Amino acid sequence: MGESEFDIIEQYFKASKRTPRKDVILSVGDDCAITEHQRNQRIAITTDTMVENIHFLPTVHPADLAYKLVATNLSDLAAMGAEPAWFSLALTLPKIEHQWLEQFSLSFFETLDYYNIDLIGGDTTRGNCHVLTLTAQGILAKGKALCRHSAKVGDWIYVSGYLGDSAAGLSLLLERYKTNNSACLTADSFTSNIEKYLVQRHLRPTPRVLFGLELADSVLANAAIDISDGLLADLGHILKRSHCSAVIDLDTLPISTELLTTVGRAQAENLALTGGEDYELCFSVADNNRQKLERNLNRIGVPYTCIGKLCEAHPQPRIFFHRSGKPVAMQFEQGGFDHFK
Ligand code: ADP
Ligand code: MG
Repeated sequence: MGESEFDIIEQYFKASKRTPRKDVILSVGDDCAITEHQRNQRIAITTDTMVENIHFLPTVHPADLAYKLVATNLSDLAAMGAEPAWFSLALTLPKIEHQWLEQFSLSFFETLDYYNIDLIGGDTTRGNCHVLTLTAQGILAKGKALCRHSAKVGDWIYVSGYLGDSAAGLSLLLERYKTNNSACLTADSFTSNIEKYLVQRHLRPTPRVLFGLELADSVLANAAIDISDGLLADLGHILKRSHCSAVIDLDTLPISTELLTTVGRAQAENLALTGGEDYELCFSVADNNRQKLERNLNRIGVPYTCIGKLCEAHPQPRIFFHRSGKPVAMQFEQGGFDHFK
């Protein structure tokens, strides 16, 4: 073939149609990239990896894959309240496939351009399967980061968007995959609008970038996290780091009508609490800041719901459940995905 990693970089990963960011001094093509930032700015940095057969089916469309790779990293930045700025991409590929690279890079830059992000570097290597690693850097105003450790007893717990849709979408994709493991599966592979919606929530989750920026900018929320492993698992991280317990009001869980009609109330609740990859934000706010924060968030146009309250953790952080105002016992398998379990 005679093609090298440099040809791939040159052909697929050098260009964006947008004018480059002014704060990028040196981009793809040297030993390092160089960026510039102001004294009162802080840089938030996060990395996410997607491995074929672990994080995605081999039959996923490269455009959906590129979108999701960017979206998951954007979601981490959003959970911190950072404005996305500079990304680096490490690509491991079994072989050079031009159609794959073409579709992947087109979608990748489309998403980067939408958010005014520059690709400033990366690495390209050969390996046994597709492995995609993205490092995302975003800009934070000094002192405004949204952290996991700063929630307080008495805070109200909120989530953005709807929960559980992505897990239901994944089930639909897996069901199809079992009957035919060679066809490329996108939302358009499904006929009903409800199925299309659920599958699309899995393949193309919306990172809550503006929502996160507003949360950080207003300095009214005490803590935030993005929901990648399921609400219970991710809220659990806030509880552990902040040493609080939580009461969740099951009646308030934001469940889409699409999810409800597909799986029924009990399973919808289960997916909303434990299903992964919704990439919504979960955050906490003190009672006296609540109204003001809600007013600010209303400007963003993303739905949000108050689902419960933080309480004392003694002796351990725990999650309690209420239904119709009364405590109920709920049993869940240990929440969250762990790669080594
Ligand atoms: P080095 O060997 O000095 O680490 P490389 O040969 O790996 O550099 O890469 C050459 C240049 O191309 C570097 O600027 C690197 O950041 C960039 N690069 C490599 N792979 C990618 C990629 N997939 N996307 C964007 N930039 C890349
Ligand atoms: Mg290198």
